[in-house]
Amino acid sequence: MKSETDSHYEVIVVGAGVAGIYQIKRLADLGIHATVLDSGGDLGGTWYWNRYPGARFDSESYTYGYSFSKELLNEWHWKERFSSQPENLRYLNYVADKFDLRKYMQFNCTVQAAYFDEAENLWRLQIDDGRELTCRFVIMTLGLLSAPTLPRYEGMDSFKGRSFHTFYWPHEPVEMTGKRVAVIGTGATAIQVIAEIADKVGDLTVFQRRPNWAAPLNNARISDKEMADIRERYDEIFATCARTPGGFEHEPDRRGFYEVSREERVALWERLYDEPGFGIWLQNFREIFTDEKANAEFSEFIAEKIRSRVKDPVVAEKLIPRDHGFGVQRVPLETYYYEAYNRDNVHLVDISETPIERITETGLQTTERDYDFDIIVYATGFDAITGAFDRIDIRGVGGAKLREDWKDGPSTFLGMFIHGYPNLLMPAGPQSGSASTNYPRGIETGVSWCTDFLEYMWEHGYTRAEATREAEERWTAHVTKMYSTMLMRKAKSWFTGYNSNVEGHEHGKVRYFVYNGGAPKYVTRINEVAERGYEGIALSSDPALSSEPSDLRVGAVSG
Ligand SMILES: Cc1cc2nc3c(=O)[nH]c(=O)nc-3n(C[C@H](O)[C@H](O)[C@H](O)COP(=O)(O)OP(=O)(O)OC[C@H]3O[C@@H](n4cnc5c(N)ncnc54)[C@H](O)[C@@H]3O)c2cc1C
Repeated sequence: MKSETDSHYEVIVVGAGVAGIYQIKRLADLGIHATVLDSGGDLGGTWYWNRYPGARFDSESYTYGYSFSKELLNEWHWKERFSSQPENLRYLNYVADKFDLRKYMQFNCTVQAAYFDEAENLWRLQIDDGRELTCRFVIMTLGLLSAPTLPRYEGMDSFKGRSFHTFYWPHEPVEMTGKRVAVIGTGATAIQVIAEIADKVGDLTVFQRRPNWAAPLNNARISDKEMADIRERYDEIFATCARTPGGFEHEPDRRGFYEVSREERVALWERLYDEPGFGIWLQNFREIFTDEKANAEFSEFIAEKIRSRVKDPVVAEKLIPRDHGFGVQRVPLETYYYEAYNRDNVHLVDISETPIERITETGLQTTERDYDFDIIVYATGFDAITGAFDRIDIRGVGGAKLREDWKDGPSTFLGMFIHGYPNLLMPAGPQSGSASTNYPRGIETGVSWCTDFLEYMWEHGYTRAEATREAEERWTAHVTKMYSTMLMRKAKSWFTGYNSNVEGHEHGKVRYFVYNGGAPKYVTRINEVAERGYEGIALSSDPALSSEPSDLRVGAVSG
């Protein structure tokens, strides 16, 4: 419901994905006058936008869902171990309807600018529909994978067929039967799309610059009986997720890589390869992430799997990454991805050898030849982690521009606050615990923490909160330091801010995007800050500006 009449809120939440939905639930429970804005036509974030065939979880569905309501947990039946996009979107709509949250949401509203007004101690948000909205606190739940990027080929507008980025996959079904389709990219999204459409299209050509390591998803239906068992075990399941570094049920193998024989290592890997989900990545030996030799041995095990699944040895070799080891980037999980290349109608073009020169009216041209297509799918990923922030003109104290301040990478306190940008909160921001984990587990932690923080402010009559420079520097140094032992720091991946399609994000300059200490340590750190009276955050109140409970609660204003 778009409430055109209100122009001031105590809190504005930007983004109606998993994080924004839960954030508004918590604010609504407190009766705070708040709204959520999203550029999408409806709620759901990631699961509203990414409607491409094959889009689904690689988190176990029942560990991805919200944990905050027993009633919700008892009502919702996950149908698949790794649920698909339409079902995930149905779930988020179910949550919003169950808790009557839609009335707080406004869609088709892109926040173009957010300026901190120092004199009034409030944020001024410029919306693309021409409105200016103001708020005391702005909560950015913009998503870390919500700013899609297209390649920069000449002639992209000239193509006469249909073309789209997977993020913008059309809402109505796309007829693909008999069509000549190009997929550009072989990241996590492409790996899902390619496997799903290979047997549905006429002809499929995949343009690959760098292959990714992928492992089987091993998806399965969840029967009524299994779901009943999951419901019984929910407390235990979430307790396990809270204990593990990744926020999943998968726990790392605590034995040392070199303490066990090669036979035992291979036996573990064989078992994990056949098991569902991220076990192959997260139940592995910890040395996989830090020790070149251990990583190389395991990567070779996976390379052999690829060779055994792809019939043409030349194609198989092309699908094996050479520039990074398994697991140093977020691992795509697949369902018959490698088998797709055994089909006569599927072709792999290595564009590191024969680069794409331009998109033409009828297809595209590489340095080797012309190709004709009916549909071009750009599976070219995201300006990850900070992209959605960079797309808003955010200005803090003294007119400082966040885009400039983060030119070389983000700098935050706890991934939640930015020095110089008071009253701006990020429950699942860059350098927070969310990005390197099962997101909703980190999101629930972040939203709860931020809500408690705001309650503290309201209870104590504080009207301004700003992370100190020292606290921010310490946190960012801590995040940076953790990269030093990780092989991932060398990878051309969104964990290090690499994206050849975004200026300044070329390889060579590592951006310290994610907190690599694992969920339990992150939770300990943020709780310590809270216990010490929000140490590291300067809190103040201006009596003239102080919010009386009557003006921040919904009852005081028109809803
Ligand atoms: C295809 C895909 C599959 C994934 N699968 C998994 C998985 O299995 N497990 C997992 O843990 N994570 C997964 N992720 C990560 C996923 O993004 C998170 O799980 C989660 O959905 C993030 O929720 P969010 O609310 O933080 O952000 P999002 O869901 O990205 O929502 C952010 C919202 O903010 C809005 N927004 C951004 N900027 C503006 C602006 N300027 N004005 C107005 N609105 C704005 C966007 O439109 C978007 O709707 C996946 C991501 C993708 C892309």
